[in-house]
Amino acid sequence: MSTFLGIPTAPGGVGHLRGSEAFPVAARRGLADAQLRQNLGNATATIRAKRAAVVGEVPDWEALRDAGQAAKADAMLRLDRLLEQLEARVTEGGGVVHWARDAAEANRIVTGLVQATGATEVVKVKSMVTDEIGLNDALAEAGIAAHETDLAELIVQLGHDRPSHILVPAIHRNRQEIREIFLREMPDADPALTDEPAALAEAARLHLRRRFLSARVGISGANFAVAETGTLCVVESEGNGRMCLTLPETLITVMGIEKVVPTWADLGVFLQLLPRSSTGERMNPYTSMWTGVTPGDGPQQFHLVLLDNGRTAALADPTGRQALHCIRCSACLNVCPVYERTGGHAYGSVYPGPIGAILSPQLTGVEANASLPYASSLCGACYEVCPVKIDIPSVLVHLRARHVDALRDRPLPGAEQIAMAAASWVMASPGRFAAAQRMGRLGRVLARKGRIRRLPPPLSAWTAARDAPVPPAGTFRQWWRDEHGDAS
Ligand code: SF4
Repeated sequence: MSTFLGIPTAPGGVGHLRGSEAFPVAARRGLADAQLRQNLGNATATIRAKRAAVVGEVPDWEALRDAGQAAKADAMLRLDRLLEQLEARVTEGGGVVHWARDAAEANRIVTGLVQATGATEVVKVKSMVTDEIGLNDALAEAGIAAHETDLAELIVQLGHDRPSHILVPAIHRNRQEIREIFLREMPDADPALTDEPAALAEAARLHLRRRFLSARVGISGANFAVAETGTLCVVESEGNGRMCLTLPETLITVMGIEKVVPTWADLGVFLQLLPRSSTGERMNPYTSMWTGVTPGDGPQQFHLVLLDNGRTAALADPTGRQALHCIRCSACLNVCPVYERTGGHAYGSVYPGPIGAILSPQLTGVEANASLPYASSLCGACYEVCPVKIDIPSVLVHLRARHVDALRDRPLPGAEQIAMAAASWVMASPGRFAAAQRMGRLGRVLARKGRIRRLPPPLSAWTAARDAPVPPAGTFRQWWRDEHGDAS
């Protein structure tokens, strides 16, 4: 694997979590896109301010965060039993539970269920996990059209694009771009459509209403599942999700196994933490919950697909398993200086930003997304805002260590290992270290206006992205000798 200052630059990944390019390469393109940076800067600044205002209203916010963290940690410790409890309660309620080891198995199950209804179209609630497994492509291969109904997901789908944010998948698009997409891709769009938000929302509403009324199958993800009652929960802002969850005859929910919470009391904590951290609202406009099926009310067939796809491997890592606590609020993205400048596409993963940098490598295996744990300045802003107190910086460092440990097993050492071995040899001897310091002072001849802007290869890799400090005229040892006599 090629590296730049130890950061992998070769592509890696598996399935839909695969980045076609490694982060450092893809990030450069995002950094060069001034429009993208402006769209992202405006959007994240607005969401950050809203979040800060509503979080500031809650006197026991820190206690709520502690409660959320404790509930998630407890759920992970007994995940197997909670999932069996969930399965039993859903089955008692008239639903059918399916278990999927990986993306291929989940896609096979969902495709088979849709085919059994005879439907050739489905409507979808915004769902990251179905993006993770590439469900839309799998359905298309089987001749089934999947229509996204969340406004932002609809924009992404019509624009033949990829989501770039957990909560606002089309955050990289501005109003003018959305208007152009609608006019180009919606046959029923009014040619006089303006880029006013209300006009764009109305165009989407008219377009989607026809889909809802004809759909026989709805597909959703789930924000939470309550083990004690078998209740599924989806939160959203538009009401389109509720249409998907209630109008079709058949509802298929695909859920990562980490979404289970033990009790309704736990759910109460998360329903307070999530809206304030994500949309900056006091509560979600639409919170839909259902338990099995109810005769004469809503879908009469309900299937729950429980997906592993790398989650049990993450669970086996005592440090890394924190990533499974995530409630997908996106607060960490909105405060991340790296995300704000590169955008979500640079991560090459369904899960962008700080959470993507710790979750995706664990779902695929660290080597398959090895550049992502380095996509951070480790400033800690993500940890401060995370509503369930995931210590993202510590997990990033832990995953970097796992990556470095894996490289140690290679038959031939890489450039970084050779450099570290040389540094270790130099620092092991006071004489060699003093000689290296004297040699380092030669670098002063490269200084211009108090900086070294360019070093010769291989050190040029360092100055390609930053200036190097100018070595001081005298070493610490010389200063000590001058001040105190002989250093020994
Ligand atoms: S890691 Fe924390 S802040 Fe980031 S999306 Fe998940 S819950 Fe939200």
